Amino acid sequence: MKIGFIGLGNMGGPMAANLARAGHEVTGFDTAEVSIEGVTMADDAHQAAEGREVVITMLPNGGILRSVAEAIIPAMTKGAVLLDCSTVDVASARAVAEMANEAGLLALDAPVSGGVGGATNGSLTFMVGGDEDGFEKAGALFDIMGQKAVHCGPSGNGQAAKICNNMILGATMIVTCEAFALADKLGLSREAMFDVVSTSSGYSWSMNTYCPAPGVGPQSPADNDYLPGFAAELMLKDLRLSQQAAEDANADTPLGQAATDLYAQFVENEGGTGRDFSAMLPRFEKRKRG
Ligand code: NAD
Repeated sequence: MKIGFIGLGNMGGPMAANLARAGHEVTGFDTAEVSIEGVTMADDAHQAAEGREVVITMLPNGGILRSVAEAIIPAMTKGAVLLDCSTVDVASARAVAEMANEAGLLALDAPVSGGVGGATNGSLTFMVGGDEDGFEKAGALFDIMGQKAVHCGPSGNGQAAKICNNMILGATMIVTCEAFALADKLGLSREAMFDVVSTSSGYSWSMNTYCPAPGVGPQSPADNDYLPGFAAELMLKDLRLSQQAAEDANADTPLGQAATDLYAQFVENEGGTGRDFSAMLPRFEKRKRG
């Protein structure tokens, strides 16, 4: 397939490289000077999108996505697929899809989970909203870049699935860290706490797979001095998107809001930037009540 790829950063770079390695003809564009193995660089976004069957975007936020979409939609051929894999607000995803549909294009919002590791080894999970036809057309590409793609319904629903998932993840990680810090103060060993909770009703991905306590449970960023992994500032971005969506949809999300406030405090005032989001545990360890 002829593919355009716009936004070749930490995630987009390895995703584009995997598509090229699988034999697709990939033309890329990024505002930063980058070079990706197997990818031909275009002079601008318009050129990267022109005549392509699928154009993939992997950009920092909804504002940038909207401006890139305005530049590339007129360049794209009717029937082509605009596949946005960035994590952006639901409203921007829906606005871009509407613009693309009006121009006779198929549009998909397909944010990912799996991080830079998943992007590099082609094991991302895609949560996809938008046209069924587009989902089928892009199927072979999801198979190369990831291990699973779930069609979640109409445009915006991929982003909705992603932020709901990450709101659960953020709140669950916080309460798991709180519980470890409480257990410490009650004289309960972390090993015993893990053995009980990981096989009891408090279990979760945060506890069982990504345990925030070093030396306990499977290997996780806690065992690597809390180097990310999934950085606290990226969790904060997703939590803020969840609260923006909750505001727009008039949904009551008190724990999502509390998790957002706590990650904001951690990232902005407590040195959390550049640390894994599970570094909430050493944060709680040092604190007292009140
Ligand atoms: P990044 O900052 O490394 O990459 C973004 C790239 O977009 C950069 O190379 C930047 O130069 C480029 N860019 C910015 N404006 C542009 C424009 N107008 N035209 C062309 N290129 C432009 O970020 P990333 O970590 O690759 O993340 C990309 C997206 O994936 C974000 O939405 C992020 O939330 C999401 N995401 C990231 C992770 C992760 O672990 N890094 C995990 C899941 C989802």
